[in-house]
Amino acid sequence: MSDHSGPSTRSVHLTEEVDAATRSIVPPIAANSAFAYPDVDTWRDVALGREPGHIYARNSNPTTDRLEAKVAALEGAPAGTSFTTGMAAISSTLLALLSPGDRAVSVKDAYGGSYLLFTDILPRFGIDCVVCDTEDDAVEAAVAERCDLLYLESPTNPTVKVLDLARLSNAARQVGATVVVDNTFATPINQNPLALGADLVVHSATKFLGGHGDVLGGVVVGSDELVERVYRFREIVGTGLDAHAAALLLRSLKTLGLRIERQNASALAIATWLESHEAVSAVHYPGLASHPRHDVAASQMRGFGGVLAFELGTGFEGVRAVLPRLRYAYLAANLGQVETIAGPPATTSHVELTDQERVEAGIPEGLIRYSVGIEDVDDLIADLEAALGGA
Ligand code: PLP
Repeated sequence: MSDHSGPSTRSVHLTEEVDAATRSIVPPIAANSAFAYPDVDTWRDVALGREPGHIYARNSNPTTDRLEAKVAALEGAPAGTSFTTGMAAISSTLLALLSPGDRAVSVKDAYGGSYLLFTDILPRFGIDCVVCDTEDDAVEAAVAERCDLLYLESPTNPTVKVLDLARLSNAARQVGATVVVDNTFATPINQNPLALGADLVVHSATKFLGGHGDVLGGVVVGSDELVERVYRFREIVGTGLDAHAAALLLRSLKTLGLRIERQNASALAIATWLESHEAVSAVHYPGLASHPRHDVAASQMRGFGGVLAFELGTGFEGVRAVLPRLRYAYLAANLGQVETIAGPPATTSHVELTDQERVEAGIPEGLIRYSVGIEDVDDLIADLEAALGGA
């Protein structure tokens, strides 16, 4: 395959060698805990890394290797490593790279679980964590003061705020900080943070990469050296992905480009339609010209993603009334699936936070996060129209 092949060609063909033993187009799942060797010397050469191969599946497995190589290629990275969940990927990355006395900078609008790592967990290990307003100026100022690791999300969950990834990566480089970007919302189809200057990209593969709501996973990609450090931590804490989950993700990745193109187009159409609805007081979607950072989004993204959020003038009471009336949206805590999913941050992205913390994080009570599936967009709009009718 040419190095210049497009993302869908890579998704379909990369790491998909015809199986030599069976001629199967889809490689068999390497379903095992350990790998057997004919003698101790061969076994030891593999164990010591002198020969390629696998020893024990907590450390590595041919099926997870394929997934890691595929996501790395989609993000333009030389290396990757995979995890049981997105949070396993994020927490393992942060704990692998940070030490007591280091200073980490992040933003208030990061995914609720990531936010809690910075506010509750990392400080217990002597890491100085600064959680800034989700604005370029605030992040840049905190980084300039002192920073060892900058952790960003763009677009953010759930209010789809946009940060200037090139500008902030550059600011971090000035002070020698490592930049980690959660690219879950954008996916590698819409945005490649490494090309904008980030050092590592993390994904909750549970979301768009998996896309079918039947698997949990996380992936970290970046340079050989940084991924090796994360991998060394992962193999000891045991947060590596199982081969069966990796196989489901490999299957899902083949349709990633198709799904994201459809979800981008439908989300833009729905966001535009919602903007003119009288029951809706605000619509948040980076693809709308009314989004305060639309110009930054347009410069760093190829599409604006499948997630939007909108506010009802009637607050949480309105959310309670409208959501059960949606026929085609599941009320659930996931996003990025082929099915449309809707919910308030109080039960989805920010369920772990108290009411007060949600207010401080700037999350309005009347907000609905709406993750657009691959259904026909006219049906989704008709469904929203019927549900919003009595709001
Ligand atoms: N990052 C983002 C942006 C998310 O939305 C989520 C989950 O909702 C996560 C990370 C955590 O991923 P997981 O649920 O796979 O642990």
